[in-house]
Amino acid sequence: MKKININTQSRSYDVNIGKNILTQMISVLKESDGEVLFICDKNVYDLHREKIISLTDSRKHHLYLFNSSERNKTLKSVELIYKYLKKHNFSRTDKIVAIGGGIVGDITGYVAATYMRGIQYYQVPTTLLSMVDSSVGGKTGVNFLNVKNLIGSFHQPEKVYIDLAFLSTLPDREIISGAGEIFKYAFLSDEENYLIIRDYLLKILLQRKFHENMISRCIQFKASVVEKDEFEKSGLRKILNLGHTFAHGFESALRFKIKHGEAVIAGVFCSLIISKKIGLITDLELHKFASDFEFLPVNTKVFRVDTENIIRYMKSDKKTSGNRIKLVLVSKPGNVFIDVEVTEKLIKESVVELSELFESV
Ligand code: NAD
Repeated sequence: MKKININTQSRSYDVNIGKNILTQMISVLKESDGEVLFICDKNVYDLHREKIISLTDSRKHHLYLFNSSERNKTLKSVELIYKYLKKHNFSRTDKIVAIGGGIVGDITGYVAATYMRGIQYYQVPTTLLSMVDSSVGGKTGVNFLNVKNLIGSFHQPEKVYIDLAFLSTLPDREIISGAGEIFKYAFLSDEENYLIIRDYLLKILLQRKFHENMISRCIQFKASVVEKDEFEKSGLRKILNLGHTFAHGFESALRFKIKHGEAVIAGVFCSLIISKKIGLITDLELHKFASDFEFLPVNTKVFRVDTENIIRYMKSDKKTSGNRIKLVLVSKPGNVFIDVEVTEKLIKESVVELSELFESV
């Protein structure tokens, strides 16, 4: 089992990583006072009922089952949870536990950030994506007017429990989606980590092997960034958005018919193509990156999206200011540029080139 401490400006908390580690959480909850609302992904509840029951039965509790989808990641769903909390007289000293993927985590975090100006919450991520990324760092939020995470807040969890046993039931497409967020990390650290992450991704995608070290390396990297720039003020945290302005454009333009991590895979490649177009990397380097990760599937739906539509949504992204689209670009692993303003023409060309790139490797 591994334990990582994340020390942010607003709070310090532990992330526990291992197999079947929820017993630890049971003891923590048993010792705590107040009511607990477990917001649990409906699929996870159906697939891991015994595990969830052993957790929830550890104390007097409330259970709220949530149908996770981007379409349900809305203020309407938030309002229903507020109503539940109010109806059951939840107060500031009570707690919420999120059990599920990034959608349950983001929505629960947002409820916890805003109900009575903030109550405590715990994260129990159950997808690969939420284990390596969304359960830590304190970004919470919901979609609004078909724009990803337009409404949100920063609110760090009390603790995070990453139980790898949940991954046994994760569908292949969700594993690819999780791999998308891991892929991003390959370009953010250095050459050594680039190779390590490539190796992890091969094991995950080809052998369905998950190890604590893979998860902890990603979390540790994210923690090192979040600790220095929790509220994305200095700009450092923006590096974690590599591929994400594109990804959010793809997701919205495709009306969420593509998974978040799948959109990130395409988004990272488009960012690399733009990096080449403006001379940060050579054509040879671009092809090397593409062939290093050729085992990573690119969802072909992105090749058919209307580029005007992608741009419209990229302009609505939180990271865009004054209609100017700014991206995170790279010149080599670990050499990352933030806030690079790019033209609409470059963006359109990169989407077209993405399909060509995958035909050529
Ligand atoms: P998700 O929460 O929708 O889960 C994906 C699917 O897997 C769902 O159908 C769910 O029911 C199912 N599922 C969950 N756990 C399972 C398990 N153990 N076995 C079988 N099925 C299981 O999606 P996700 O990919 O986990 O999260 C995506 C969301 O995370 C996006 O909305 C994205 O914006 C957000 N995100 C947030 C941050 C952040 O920092 N807050 C970072 C990255 C992504």
